[in-house]
Amino acid sequence: MSKKYLVTSALPYANGPLHYGHMAGVYIPSDIFVRHLKLLGEKVMHICGSDEHGVAIMLNAKKAGTPYKQYVDSWHKAHKELFDAHQIEFDFFGQTSAPYHAEETVEWFHALNKKGFIGTKIEKQLYHEDCKNFLPDRFVEGTCYECGYPDARGDECPNCGTLIDAVRLKNPVCKICGGRDNIKVVDATQYYILLSKFHGPFRKWLEGRKDNWRKTVGPYVDSLTKESLHDRAITRDIDWGIDVPLPEAKGKKLYVWFDAPIGYVSNTKEHLKRIGSSEHYLKDWWQNPNVEIINFLGKDNIIFHSIIFPVMCMASEKARAVDDIPANQYLNLVGKQFSKSQGHYVDAVEAVKEFGPDAIRYYLTAILPEYADSSFTWEGLGARVNGELANNIGNLVSRCLKFFQKHWPEGLPQAKFDSFFSSPMASEYEAGIKAHKEILDGRNFRPGLEAVMALGIKTNLQFTERAPWAQVKVDKEAAAETIAHTSIQILMLGILLSPYLPKLSSTLLLAFPGLTQDIKRGLYKGDVGALKKVFAGTFRLGVVPDMLVPKIDEKRLAELASQLAAKGQ
Ligand SMILES: [Zn+2]
Ligand SMILES: [Zn+2]
Repeated sequence: MSKKYLVTSALPYANGPLHYGHMAGVYIPSDIFVRHLKLLGEKVMHICGSDEHGVAIMLNAKKAGTPYKQYVDSWHKAHKELFDAHQIEFDFFGQTSAPYHAEETVEWFHALNKKGFIGTKIEKQLYHEDCKNFLPDRFVEGTCYECGYPDARGDECPNCGTLIDAVRLKNPVCKICGGRDNIKVVDATQYYILLSKFHGPFRKWLEGRKDNWRKTVGPYVDSLTKESLHDRAITRDIDWGIDVPLPEAKGKKLYVWFDAPIGYVSNTKEHLKRIGSSEHYLKDWWQNPNVEIINFLGKDNIIFHSIIFPVMCMASEKARAVDDIPANQYLNLVGKQFSKSQGHYVDAVEAVKEFGPDAIRYYLTAILPEYADSSFTWEGLGARVNGELANNIGNLVSRCLKFFQKHWPEGLPQAKFDSFFSSPMASEYEAGIKAHKEILDGRNFRPGLEAVMALGIKTNLQFTERAPWAQVKVDKEAAAETIAHTSIQILMLGILLSPYLPKLSSTLLLAFPGLTQDIKRGLYKGDVGALKKVFAGTFRLGVVPDMLVPKIDEKRLAELASQLAAKGQ
């Protein structure tokens, strides 16, 4: 059986806008990788969806006075629109509040329970008698018993980082009704996943792959799990989520972190169903040893995807565990974390409307936080787009193809193009394209883009050196050859840029009417000669883009930068 790829992107939480930290952390790299695989002709499925349960969502929906389902649906829609605007494509983008997801999650619960990996513990918990609600996690706030911070949450103190035991909070306040009186400590039974029982098999599994993972992932997971794994509560007494499927657990819901990663699996099932596929989501995908499973995510999600979900997969025997986790570090905004509440924030909806997906994708890829945190600045956007993309690619296309159109509107004969394929530049491109493929196969996207741009610089140098605008006055045949050779290189750059900048690429490739998917694929795999067919007979340009890369107005960027600085103060 031939190899397949199952690529997942971390499920965005349906509780607020996505920012460029999320885009650069997860979705830009996963989209580039999937486009790369599809261009190579690989069989790949890209799964994502909204993560729609949990106390944080419940609190915000209550605050907005909106029913939970309506609240998550609206964020689901907003996120989908944002991905579309940035040309980030999934084969399926589902929802964890959908019935198909609850159905799958219940099966996982039963499978784990049957194999002895679910147990119960009696916990001390806060209960508010006035409004008759249990107060797990963020449903309660109070004074931190470690540092004295007055607004510590029931799950964590934002000031000192302590993981809070809610019953120990001082001066607790109910976040549901705002009341402070009659908050009692009661006993409540909760269900746990017994991760500790799977420590041995987990370590054996980890040993087999941690050295192939990124240096920021493998050693971290290794050191966290050397001694033991800790059991974790998987249920909550709340009214939004998936019911615990046991008669004795009436009123309890599965905790959001338990059902969310199962979303990858339920969304795969739903996708196959909707496209009418005969493939089985488990046998042909999640359990299939010929499928490489790759989870794209930001570093805050490493523990769930490298420890907890793999144990859930293996202990339940429902699915194979992940093969690779190319987790990114953080993208900050001018050196500090993005924060909507503090106004330290870039509205991605507005930004992509103003600057377009090519400019944003180019800049985010150029600064991807693959091995260290990096930082978004408005000046940086201008410098990268104007200084690199517009100069290197936009100007080259405009100078060469418009010159071509002006002097040879009837086209150029094949012979002018043929001489390129035996030139040193053809060999340089062939080597460059093969190296680029290896870089992306290795899931390194920032160096991948750099490799393409380096080829563009070589083409620019050659073009400037040959100076067809001077050649045409003394030797029109030589000028024709320069234009033909440069056109081939532009075509190659257009194909190589397609995983990164799909819009720019498809606009540019309209100038080459004979290009087919097969030829594109041949070139992308490293066969420069595959392009000969495009230039057979007489080659006439198709639609030449008028302005491939619009320059960004630096004054406008300075304005945005100063607005941001003012808001952040
Ligand atoms: Zn504290
Ligand atoms: Zn209350």
